[in-house]
Amino acid sequence: MTKKLRDLKDKECRWPLGDPNDKDFGFCGKKISHRSYCAEHTIQSQRRVIKTPEEIDDANRSENTTGNRW
Ligand SMILES: [Zn+2]
Repeated sequence: MTKKLRDLKDKECRWPLGDPNDKDFGFCGKKISHRSYCAEHTIQSQRRVIKTPEEIDDANRSENTTGNRW
């Protein structure tokens, strides 16, 4: 269940859900925990910018194996 932008109140999560071109597109609308997002989406928004060491390690590994498959 999503909310339209006009239905969002001040303290509701503004995390977009779905495809913006889709008529079902909307926003999370759960209670905000930090800044503009609920607890779940605060974590997701931070993950987009800051990668964990494991993610960086995985990225490096897949780069190294590319073109090396015999
Ligand atoms: Zn949310």
